[in-house]
Amino acid sequence: MDTTVQSWERRELGSFFHTFSDLASLREDGPAIVEKGDGAYIFDTAGKRYFEGNSGLWNMTLGFSETRLAEVAARQYAQFPGYHTFFGRNSKPTIALAERMLELAPVPMSRVFFTNSGSDANESVIKLLWMMWAAEGQPRRRKLLTRKNAYHGATVMASALTGKDYVRAFGLPNAEIVTLDCPHSWRFALPGESDEDYSARLAARLEQQIVAEGPETIAGMFAEPVMGAGGVIVPPDGYFRMIQPVLQRYGIPLVADEVICGFGRTGHLWGAQAVGLRPDIIVASKSMSAGYFPMGAVMLSADMDKRATAACELWEEFPHGYTTGGHPVGCAISLEAIRIITEEGILDNIRKVGPVFQAGLRTLAEHPMVGEARGLGLMGALEMVADKKTKTAYAGEYRVGDRIAKAARDLGFIIRPLGASVVLAPPFIATLDQIGQLLDVLKRILDDVH
Ligand code: PLP
Repeated sequence: MDTTVQSWERRELGSFFHTFSDLASLREDGPAIVEKGDGAYIFDTAGKRYFEGNSGLWNMTLGFSETRLAEVAARQYAQFPGYHTFFGRNSKPTIALAERMLELAPVPMSRVFFTNSGSDANESVIKLLWMMWAAEGQPRRRKLLTRKNAYHGATVMASALTGKDYVRAFGLPNAEIVTLDCPHSWRFALPGESDEDYSARLAARLEQQIVAEGPETIAGMFAEPVMGAGGVIVPPDGYFRMIQPVLQRYGIPLVADEVICGFGRTGHLWGAQAVGLRPDIIVASKSMSAGYFPMGAVMLSADMDKRATAACELWEEFPHGYTTGGHPVGCAISLEAIRIITEEGILDNIRKVGPVFQAGLRTLAEHPMVGEARGLGLMGALEMVADKKTKTAYAGEYRVGDRIAKAARDLGFIIRPLGASVVLAPPFIATLDQIGQLLDVLKRILDDVH
């Protein structure tokens, strides 16, 4: 037995307070201590190799050994190791990244500021919206529209925005949160209802909810273009096209949470382009730095910029910011990651490999356990059902997602369990061979677990 492995596991369990980790699985399997990576693979301390079928947490999109990102970081550390963006000071990589992001935005955007993560970027948007409405003499516009199964982060308000019961379970400031339906056709469309009809029904229901709440109390709506942590829910055709006019009718800004979708995940540079979303505000993170530095960003349309700036004038400033938001090293890394994605064939690779991945997933839908195989680009999910006809979920104690993910881990593949589903988000550098192997392993596991 390798005592080093034991010792690191014991040390981890003895010292580390686990977040978002299933404690029963930890007790059974212990933590996996990862110490190196190579391309799309990671290696644990015992030397076992795993294909990272989730790109870490959707973020290590360029894999685990992109030396150019390490080199650019080293150069920037040597040149100017870090700073903040407050009090009228800034640094060159931060400005260059702001310009590049505005150039690449899916709809014209006017200005951008940087944060450290997706959660704090969403949190920043909430403050900005509240400040803007208060400055415009509408201080009652505080409520935030979100959707069941959305994930927007772990800070207090971002958790409240997250439409998952287990996140909100112990009580969060939910009073100003309005939860809308999850736009998931397979689960919630009526029998025989087309995507268009379902979208129209959701838009009508949105309008009812806005009217019932009082439009004069609503600050904005947050939406992931494709829901990620909610189980990779691609909205029905026409969904954003139909809900946007409703929001516009009541002057409600739409915030696209592109934390997962942004920078290629769907096969489009932005999720907004994949689903016809025209945001007023965009939140980005994850792939922006390919996971090599904690980064987040908030982009504002010209209208939002103008109105937020007017509000700032009233209070002399936006009383907000994070010491390390816009860190020059993070910005230099992000510029390089974005260059690699957009100019050096990575987006092309997603467009080549993504459809093969999606087609392979769809063939797994024929398996008796699989209720739905879904996804877009390089994000996908398999939702397991106890009864395919009635779409009855497996009982919780069956822990079907956990069992599949554990079997995959034993075979050297990391995939993520999510209740009765498993979620997959291979790195953008994944090859056709690697995707083929991932799909083969999934098929084998489904046959074994069944
Ligand atoms: N928004 C979305 C859509 C996410 O998926 C996540 C994280 O997974 C977040 C926000 C929060 O980002 P972070 O974990 O960087 O705070």
